[in-house]
Amino acid sequence: MRKLPIYILLDTSESMVGEPIQAVEQGLVTLLSALRKDPYALEMAHLSVITFGTAAKQAVPLTELSQFQTPKLILGSGTSLGAALELLEKRIAAEVTKSTAEVKGDYKPLVFLMTDGEPTDRWESAADRMMKNRSLQLVAIGCGQDTNLNTLRRITELVICGTEANQETLTKFFKWVSASVATASQSVDKTGESRITLEKFPQDDAIKVVDETTSQPKIEPNRFVFLHNKCVKNKKFYLQKFAKSGSKTGGFLGLGGKEVYKGAGTFPLDDFEQPGADGGISVSTDVLGEGNPCPYCGNEGWAMCSCGKTHCTPAVKQGQTITLTCPWCNTTDTYASSNFSVGGGGG
Ligand SMILES: [Zn+2]
Ligand SMILES: [Zn+2]
Repeated sequence: MRKLPIYILLDTSESMVGEPIQAVEQGLVTLLSALRKDPYALEMAHLSVITFGTAAKQAVPLTELSQFQTPKLILGSGTSLGAALELLEKRIAAEVTKSTAEVKGDYKPLVFLMTDGEPTDRWESAADRMMKNRSLQLVAIGCGQDTNLNTLRRITELVICGTEANQETLTKFFKWVSASVATASQSVDKTGESRITLEKFPQDDAIKVVDETTSQPKIEPNRFVFLHNKCVKNKKFYLQKFAKSGSKTGGFLGLGGKEVYKGAGTFPLDDFEQPGADGGISVSTDVLGEGNPCPYCGNEGWAMCSCGKTHCTPAVKQGQTITLTCPWCNTTDTYASSNFSVGGGGG
């Protein structure tokens, strides 16, 4: 039986936290149930999920639909797109049967790549190989205003862009994927062709196919900043999101403590891939203004331990101190802060 391999590459960077990642998880569930109802797809389509955040991982190897289980997606810092493309090449080499003079191999793999940002690793040479690779068909979808469309255009000729990485956009995308796979598996079964013809993408204002006239929206660097916090009470992990609010006037150092980031939510997470030594926040903590309360205990502020990690803390009045045990390193220390919401206290 010739397989129709489908690889789904998903961005699991921390900016996907909240609605975007939930929409992706829901999209996978919907895709799977739609394909299972299609007798052609059920017979031919095999599905794999590769995620890329801190690193690239094959969350599910190429699996027939009846056996496929939707993976739990674990977020991390970074967007390892280059690593994901390299992993894709390796997995295709290992999992897809090539045609030879004697044997008809599998159908050309269909690859759907979804991202909301810019790669944080070396991606260029892998992208150039992808563009030249005629043994697979890759569709890239960029969601949200931080997506670098030029990056995606270097990977494939078929790029779709959505204005937001939200439920509405991602539902449309996954619906189209399932319709395309269903049509594809039917048509290859009839014609025996190795190349898949995709459904026409149903464009609208929120999501459209990128062409020569599509301009790259201006990307504002570090529009969001994420702190990797733990709750001092239950030691559980959460992401604290800050969004740029003030206008930048000549470098962070020149701001003189003026707040330019505001709290944009806290997100409790059971699992999170910690960044490597070079990871973590890339702006000075001085510019982070008041954040949102700890999602576990309601503590209003956050503080940085001398170990360099951040955690929640109750409000501390000017001139007062508080004794806390860091949930990361278990060191008990006195935190003194003129402003409880700004890090740098402790030891
Ligand atoms: Zn807490
Ligand atoms: Zn610590």
